[in-house]
Amino acid sequence: MTERKTIVIIGGGISGLSAGIYAEQHGLHAIVIEKHNIPGGLCTGWDRKGYHIDGCIHWLTGTKDKTILNEMWKNLHAFKDDNDILQLETWGSFNYKGTVVNFYRDIDKAEKEWISISPIDRKRIHRFFNMVRDFCKVELPLDLPISMIPLKRLLGLGFKVLSVWPSYLRSMHISTTRYAKKFKDPALRFALENVQPGPGNLFSMLYSYSSVVIGDGGIPKGGSKAMAIRMADYFQELGGTLLLNSPVNKIIVEHKTASGVELLDGKVIKGDYVVSCLDPNYALNRLLLGQYSLPLISKKISKPETYPTPSCCLLSYAIDKSLKIPTPYSFKCEPFYVGGQYIDHITVRNYAYDKSFDRDDKTTMTVLLDQYNFNYDFWKNLRKNPVKYRKYKEDVQKAVTARIIKHIPEIKASIEPLDVATPITLTRYTNTTKGAYMGFLFTHNKPMFAHNGHIPGLKNFYLSGQWMQAPGGLPLAMANGKFAIQRICKKEKLNYIFSKVTSKKKQNI
Ligand SMILES: Cc1cc2nc3c(=O)[nH]c(=O)nc-3n(C[C@H](O)[C@H](O)[C@H](O)COP(=O)(O)OP(=O)(O)OC[C@H]3O[C@@H](n4cnc5c(N)ncnc54)[C@H](O)[C@@H]3O)c2cc1C
Repeated sequence: MTERKTIVIIGGGISGLSAGIYAEQHGLHAIVIEKHNIPGGLCTGWDRKGYHIDGCIHWLTGTKDKTILNEMWKNLHAFKDDNDILQLETWGSFNYKGTVVNFYRDIDKAEKEWISISPIDRKRIHRFFNMVRDFCKVELPLDLPISMIPLKRLLGLGFKVLSVWPSYLRSMHISTTRYAKKFKDPALRFALENVQPGPGNLFSMLYSYSSVVIGDGGIPKGGSKAMAIRMADYFQELGGTLLLNSPVNKIIVEHKTASGVELLDGKVIKGDYVVSCLDPNYALNRLLLGQYSLPLISKKISKPETYPTPSCCLLSYAIDKSLKIPTPYSFKCEPFYVGGQYIDHITVRNYAYDKSFDRDDKTTMTVLLDQYNFNYDFWKNLRKNPVKYRKYKEDVQKAVTARIIKHIPEIKASIEPLDVATPITLTRYTNTTKGAYMGFLFTHNKPMFAHNGHIPGLKNFYLSGQWMQAPGGLPLAMANGKFAIQRICKKEKLNYIFSKVTSKKKQNI
């Protein structure tokens, strides 16, 4: 029997764990090396004053049974079945000066509500929901890298896409902000503008909303950290090696071939392939000492205003769990600035929907304030003075708390601030560039892109993770972890088609 090849995987986030599991399942041995003391990377959560704060999943694409992504998540033991998934009634409720606009999962109900709010926008509303319906029909083939999809399947997909092409075309080249302006009613404009980060395009928004509509955008019970831990446990059950508290300092290259890594403590770990499942900017410049380049990525990183990546300040609170606050719930507020970014609304996410967040009669609530890569320098400068940084965080939390209490007075008796995480926190824990929690946004004038992770001139090495396919997010992080292993399997002449592809179509609405 030939010896199993060893794959050294840098990064124990969702992409690294996915790569590790697929490697172990397909005749390879995987060593996942993670700098933090827990796996999960950006898919995480933490405890403060006895409360659990979820730092990631708002919706997870792939929670609908019999879809391609669902099969992949289950294969990775991210969750078992429908019983492990929670579905919220809405993708968001937006209160504009007393008028509430809901993105219900039931889109017929949402359409009716929107028309009753603004009969004058009837035609446009109808067109919007028809685009959502179109997006419900197409499923992205994320079980294989595009270059490995058999022609017959590609043609079938092309045919399906053709049937909804007008909706795709209409939505790709317009930002949500500009699209929202087409509506006459200010409450609808407010809702459409803020349901996803503003610079993103309408296409991304429709894709996400359609996932929620068909039940494919649910939330695993227990939240993000619990999901990552389940995947890490399964990886180790399969025989994979998970090294925590092990920051990689350098990728070892011999004869133009990656042959392992050196940890910060000097320990060397050798392998037949190296897969980097972390921010590619960090991998190229720090771990490969700037000796290799990937212009597609570095050009974008150098122009944050043109290529925005989303970041955030994540504020958390404990609140009385019996309060009837819809979730997620946004309201217009007195404007303020955070990190140089203008903020005119607040979105609260009340975790009362999941018992795992209960502590006696209280639960957790978070507020995500949008930040971007172009706000990062503000935070970096502020962080140089720890006293000022701490004070700024306290001031932001005070400003937000005051606005929440003004809008939801009944919260006053129980609201208790727990924590403030900033773009600096995200980078400190995961080495992500400029606090980014996803890759480059898919904007109206910047097309989607996917990269095969190969770096010219460097053999047996693959870049992976969410950055390899815009706009990133958990499904693309997970899929790209798999793709790296499929590429290695193909090279090693091992089976690289790892899925039964049970799904025929997402759903006809
Ligand atoms: C507030 C927030 C909300 C989000 N909401 C959603 C959502 O609702 N749905 C969704 O799909 N996505 C969401 N995301 C995005 C999602 O978390 C990411 O897309 C995904 O986790 C990226 O996974 P990854 O494995 O590619 O990268 P990462 O999670 O960044 O993993 C990289 C790993 O590499 C490790 N590492 C870095 N440097 C080294 C080193 N030198 N040595 C060893 N290890 C190293 C890091 O510690 C990390 O564990 C959200 C993220 C945040 C922060």
